[in-house]
Amino acid sequence: MSSDRRDELAAGLAETERRIAAACAAAGRNRSEITLVAVTKTHPASDVDLLAELGVTDMGENRHPEAGDKAREVQHAVRWHFLGGLQTNKAGAVARYADVVHSVDRVKLVNALSRGAESAGRTLTCLVQVDFDATDPGRAGAVPDDIGTVADAIVAAPGLVLGGLMTVAPLGEDPAPHFEHLVRLSARLRETHPDAAIVSAGMSGDFEAAITAGATHLRIGRSILGERPSSG
Ligand SMILES: *Cc1c(COP(=O)(O)O)cnc(C)c1O
Repeated sequence: MSSDRRDELAAGLAETERRIAAACAAAGRNRSEITLVAVTKTHPASDVDLLAELGVTDMGENRHPEAGDKAREVQHAVRWHFLGGLQTNKAGAVARYADVVHSVDRVKLVNALSRGAESAGRTLTCLVQVDFDATDPGRAGAVPDDIGTVADAIVAAPGLVLGGLMTVAPLGEDPAPHFEHLVRLSARLRETHPDAAIVSAGMSGDFEAAITAGATHLRIGRSILGERPSSG
């Protein structure tokens, strides 16, 4: 395995951790409140193993079957986060390897994940993906008014645990108000579901704003692993 690639990943991770530490210091937050999910989509399983050796415990993928193939190939025990738009007919397969699904946005998908988790004898943590971009109806995510319905369905579903909320900031806009909105919605959700404390927000281009707003989980790809070969 290439030691050059190990050095590259170590440097990307160190620079990313430096930015996380600076944003935490500026916001008066503790690094230990935040989970870094390294988004390894389009990169090989060998990168996941190198990152695990560098101390990363949580990996993110956005496509099936790429994610499942990688989960089988990887040597180290890591936690797998599924981040992508998910078709109902693939939910059962994803439930076999994912630990956390960040992209739950409709009741039909909740039911499919629940059946998959049950038949695999696994427990899946589910986040409700929230969409703030009213201009593009094609985007994944539930509108804020539907969070309660999807959250209640997760709570009622065997094999699933409600973990909290996730968003992807709308492209080309200041992400800060959207992350702040997500944190307010999270506070409201926790009034009825106190354990659903995960706030998944922030990618390579905007994670400082997410830390400032109160995110608990950052999903970071390019800043650690470099540019992706394709559009992934
Ligand atoms: C790809 C992806 C990320 C990571 O994006 P980077 O810009 O590479 O940090 C985060 N979240 C989701 C949902 C993604 O699909």
